[in-house]
Amino acid sequence: MLGNRVIGQAMTPAHHELLAEARALLTPARVTAWQTEPGGAVGREAWVEMGAHGLLGAALPRAQGGRGLGILGSLVVADAVSQIQDGGVMLGLHVQGDVACQWLAGAPDESLRERFLPGVLRGELLACQCDTDPAGERESTAVRDGETLVLDARKAYVINGAAADLCFVGVRLDGRPTIVLVERDVPGVRVRLVYDKLGTRTVDSALVEFDGVRVPASQVVSRGGLGQILHWNAVMTRMRLLIAADACLMHRSLLEHIVAHAGCRQLGGRPLVSWPVNLHALARARADLELMEAGIADAYLRLQGRSGAMPEVAALKWFCVERATQLAELCCDLEGGAGYMLDSPSLRIYRQLRGLRMAGGSQTTMLTIGNHSLACRAELGLGSEGAGAVTR
Ligand SMILES: Cc1cc2nc3c(=O)[nH]c(=O)nc-3n(C[C@H](O)[C@H](O)[C@H](O)COP(=O)(O)OP(=O)(O)OC[C@H]3O[C@@H](n4cnc5c(N)ncnc54)[C@H](O)[C@@H]3O)c2cc1C
Repeated sequence: MLGNRVIGQAMTPAHHELLAEARALLTPARVTAWQTEPGGAVGREAWVEMGAHGLLGAALPRAQGGRGLGILGSLVVADAVSQIQDGGVMLGLHVQGDVACQWLAGAPDESLRERFLPGVLRGELLACQCDTDPAGERESTAVRDGETLVLDARKAYVINGAAADLCFVGVRLDGRPTIVLVERDVPGVRVRLVYDKLGTRTVDSALVEFDGVRVPASQVVSRGGLGQILHWNAVMTRMRLLIAADACLMHRSLLEHIVAHAGCRQLGGRPLVSWPVNLHALARARADLELMEAGIADAYLRLQGRSGAMPEVAALKWFCVERATQLAELCCDLEGGAGYMLDSPSLRIYRQLRGLRMAGGSQTTMLTIGNHSLACRAELGLGSEGAGAVTR
């Protein structure tokens, strides 16, 4: 499990039980069996099996159908899924098992929770999060027509966009950013394109269109005003923490792999690892791992308490993904010609990390959030209880 002592001590027997169950289910062999074609996306049965084993929504309280294990429950599942070494199911799990559950659990209209949450937790209703407007094109909007909303939106790079039954769509409504739940089978929802991707291939990524789509106004899952910003930030912050953990776990696995390789491979009469240039780079990568684990533990504690977490987690996501990508690149070089071949373990992880650079918001966006929020705190003379707590 994520190596830090704080996380280790926070684990209860129920977390260990979830970890064992998730590791037993999410094996590379099982994922291969779930794939509908070699190297492609997993089929519906994957989500139903994950649901049957209680891997979806483990963070939610038991009263809402979860396992009552909080964000640590989601981190435990992220740890287990890292053993398949494909970022697709990882990201799909974060959307299905955390983001969608958080939207439904906090929806202003409680009947949405009763209607949809059980199906999401069982993996029978597959969810996707539709955020990204294709650059330079018109903004996604919703307008009111009595008690109905009419959506006009296009969303790119949506994880599970082609397979999903439920879409959580970011639109501008009444001049404010809003998330609206749209069922896939209502008229006007169309999958325009399924992308061919570099990594994260165990789930699809699609361009989804919402053309004059009509849904009841009660399907707004976000709240208005400041409450909306707080809730949105809280959901995205959890997602970014999970992505930081994914990157940290990939970094650890890369490091183990490359230290073993560089210890055996002889060059100029000594192992690759004993050349100072390599030794220094690997020592730095080892220090990065310590920092990542400490940062994840700190973020976990912040999310448990009342202090600000939004800019810290954005900075953490940036750090973990940035340093893991650097290590993957170094590993490809240290594997020599093998690092260029498609079956290279380092290249495989590098491909997943390319996806994590964009998922949950780009690396530049993470820097922007960290920079603005932390500068705002400094200008207002606030500690980490200040501006970050407001935007948490
Ligand atoms: C694996 C993967 C999964 C994804 N999953 C989803 C999903 O489930 N749902 C969804 O809606 N989207 C998803 N995305 C999309 C992802 O959120 C976006 O790709 C990301 O937010 C960047 O947006 P963009 O592609 O429009 O690029 P742009 O916004 O055009 O950004 C491209 C680059 O421009 C630069 N840039 C951007 N903004 C600034 C700025 N303010 N200042 C300076 N430079 C800037 C940065 O270098 C940035 O990396 C996913 C993407 C990937 C790769």
